[in-house]
Amino acid sequence: MVQYVYEFAEGNRDMADLLGGKGANLAEMTRLGLPVPPGFTVTTDACRAFLATGTEPDGLADEIADCLGVLERSAGRRLGQPDDPLLLSVRSGARFSMPGMMETILDIGLTDDSVRGLAKVSGSERFAWDSYRRLLQMFGSTVMGVDPALFEAALTRLKDSLNYRDDLHLDAPDLARLVETYKNLISGETGKDFPQDPTEQLRRSIRAVFESWNGQRARLYRRREHISDTLGTAVNVQRMVFGNLGPDSGSGVAFTRDPATGRRRPYGDYLPNAQGEDVVAGIRNTVPLTDLERLDPTSYAQLRDHLEALEGHYRDLCDVEFTIERGTLWMLQTRVGKRTAEAAFAIAAGLAEEGLITHDEALARVSGDEAARLMFPRFDTAAVGEALAHGIPASPGAAVGAAVFDCAEAVRRAAAGEKVVLVRQETTPDDLPGMVAAQAVLTSRGGKTSHAAVVARGMGKVCVCGAEDLVIDPPGRRCTTAGGVTIEEGMVISVDGSTGTLYAGVAPLVDSEVMRYFETGERSGELVDAVARALDRADAVRRLGVRANADTPEDAARARRFGAEGIGLCRTEHMFLGDRRKLVEAMILAHTDADRVRALDALLPLQRQDFIGILEAMDGLPVTIRLLDPPLHEFLPDRTELSVRIATAEAQGNPPSAHDAELLAAVNRMHEENPMLGLRGVRLGLVAPGLTAMQVRALAEAIVERKRAGGDPRAEIMVPLIDAVEELRLVREEVDETLAAVSEASGMAVRCPVGTMIELPRAALTAGQIAQEAAFFSFGTNDLTQTTWGYSRDDVEAAFFSAYLDKGIFKVSPFETIDPEGVGRLVRIAVAEGRAARPDLKVGVCGEHGGDPASVHFFHAADLDYVSCSPFRVPVARLEAGRAAL
Ligand code: ADP
Ligand code: MG
Ligand code: MG
Repeated sequence: MVQYVYEFAEGNRDMADLLGGKGANLAEMTRLGLPVPPGFTVTTDACRAFLATGTEPDGLADEIADCLGVLERSAGRRLGQPDDPLLLSVRSGARFSMPGMMETILDIGLTDDSVRGLAKVSGSERFAWDSYRRLLQMFGSTVMGVDPALFEAALTRLKDSLNYRDDLHLDAPDLARLVETYKNLISGETGKDFPQDPTEQLRRSIRAVFESWNGQRARLYRRREHISDTLGTAVNVQRMVFGNLGPDSGSGVAFTRDPATGRRRPYGDYLPNAQGEDVVAGIRNTVPLTDLERLDPTSYAQLRDHLEALEGHYRDLCDVEFTIERGTLWMLQTRVGKRTAEAAFAIAAGLAEEGLITHDEALARVSGDEAARLMFPRFDTAAVGEALAHGIPASPGAAVGAAVFDCAEAVRRAAAGEKVVLVRQETTPDDLPGMVAAQAVLTSRGGKTSHAAVVARGMGKVCVCGAEDLVIDPPGRRCTTAGGVTIEEGMVISVDGSTGTLYAGVAPLVDSEVMRYFETGERSGELVDAVARALDRADAVRRLGVRANADTPEDAARARRFGAEGIGLCRTEHMFLGDRRKLVEAMILAHTDADRVRALDALLPLQRQDFIGILEAMDGLPVTIRLLDPPLHEFLPDRTELSVRIATAEAQGNPPSAHDAELLAAVNRMHEENPMLGLRGVRLGLVAPGLTAMQVRALAEAIVERKRAGGDPRAEIMVPLIDAVEELRLVREEVDETLAAVSEASGMAVRCPVGTMIELPRAALTAGQIAQEAAFFSFGTNDLTQTTWGYSRDDVEAAFFSAYLDKGIFKVSPFETIDPEGVGRLVRIAVAEGRAARPDLKVGVCGEHGGDPASVHFFHAADLDYVSCSPFRVPVARLEAGRAAL
């Protein structure tokens, strides 16, 4: 038979699937001998069975009765016993922490009779009536469905009628009156009385906690956090302890280390003479935990011992909730605590230093995303004012600007040179121009995969979304915070995309010390040292190489400083922009071979110079040069603009110049409906005579020059957009001829491996053939994703990706994280068949996925040799490649 109920002493921390996180950790603390009020956990199995059928599964009631009996015997009194009642809490607790999302009901067992017994045994009338009214409030709203605002309103009315400002002024008779009011409220609203049978209270509370799993708040939260709806929650039933029994009682939260900085010092908040819920609710001001040392040195010393025991046992930062009842300390909850990126690195390094975890474990405890967050300038947490609002940190960084509430205003102000923050309930594709114009995007709705979040991340723009306590009033051009602050259009606000926090005014910025370390190599400061240690470890264990995508000597040099082991993608098209565009135009317009040769000859020395610079910056490391990739018409004027200009001039009686006419003819000739699938990549090299030879000659001559200067150039030539091995064979012939010619002319043997991008499904599927001609493969996962899914990236992201994400068609954009089943399958096929044909084939990836943590893990598993990503992502890729190898 299934066991539905476990006493705390029966469970342990590995049972979180069954007992929920809270239950498993309560069990673990019990086993460790920490003072946990006794109790038992109803399993997630029971919850799932209940939610599936709408009734408690067979046997559950008996098991609960048994465990309750054990509790009652150990306490020496019965649940709700009139003269000395045992009181219970009923607490939700799912597998994954869902803070505040589900229900907890305290003080179960109080009735019209037992409230008097409690008053007598506790010696406090006020405490007894206050506990009873809390039960009525929680049970009334959670179990019986009365609007919680009605209880609040009744409380406020009572205080107003008595001219009290504060709950603390209510005395026992006041609270007894409030209890009457609440009971009437419940029967008035529901037509039923508050149950006076304690076991009925308990049974219905457990049911209500089960049901709270499907509450609206909980569902929304799970969707955002990608937590499955089918897990269900466990329910913890526990003896109540009381922090509100006088000045020698109280409640607090504590961390084993500072979760903001990772520093090893006691950290937390304490509220004397209060229940735990009062600490969280923020009704009264807490004091720093360290004050407890003065208030109750014995409990404080015990708490510190317990914190140390927990950290030693869990070997990680833990947080706890505790209550002191008349000088006796009780532990109510613990878990491995959340922390900032900074603290994650500091704690991992600290625990490894203390020998509590290994260096590999320390590496596993930090992430590339956290490292990336530390590379942005951030607000000076010591100097920022109070937060105005909190949302979901969707795209990191710190931004300051004037609040604007519509796209047009954002564009207008930005055009006038003003920095703006676009504030919207949510964004749509219509908001794109405003998002481009803004420093940051702030929304009150939507999660990490909302339109705002996806688009902002793609643009590298700061974004906080789902700041639900902001009431945004677009027609009124303002918004209001939960604290009642109104932000009018034009008011300057500061948005922290790394923490999800909004501040008023200009929050002071500090440069990233981690970035400074990468730029200068200066390893100073605790945080930098912690980050450097993690990266050192990652470098020692990773199997994947990490290269960078870089097109200029400056980028190449930066990539090298950031730890890149070469260039995986050097795009040559960027070298043809600006002034050089005219030269490309001349090449396209050339009528005769002589004209074309002249145009190419003019480009050659410029291109050679570019290569020299890059090879120098990456001396001794591989540099993968990609032959020209984009359609040629990208180097010509825009078709519509040109047509309009010529037509307008003609209408005014000015016939177009011969050059313009020729240009227009060329633009029309080369126009493509789907340029992404048109004349580009290797296709271009094969039909534009002399282009490939010019690029290869420039590279070969650059190699000669670098060698003459005593350098160690290691160039590789990469051919883009191959579909068929024949294409590669033809290009290689031209490359080999050109290399031979340069070798002969220079008297120096110039060799250069030729490889190909694999970025079309056909190439992946014929990789065995292609490998015969290729020294290496580099997966161009951007184009491979476009062509595998049939998506035009520039069109689809804004058009329907947020809808697709909401509908769960994918959890993350396939352009952000590689789609392992489709695109990834092509990668695996190509790796296997390519290596079978050529065992020494080198295989890398140069799409943007190369810097995405989840994708790096995939590429490691797919056994690639290296990933290549933007210089700024190099540390992220190094770290994740190391973690993937653990
Ligand atoms: P959450 O998961 O939202 O933190 P909890 O189950 O921890 O909910 O309960 C909320 C509050 O109720 C806690 O702050 C805790 O202090 C208080 N509480 C829960 N159980 C007990 C108990 N047995 N005795 C005293 N207070 C309790
Ligand atoms: Mg809690
Ligand atoms: Mg491509």
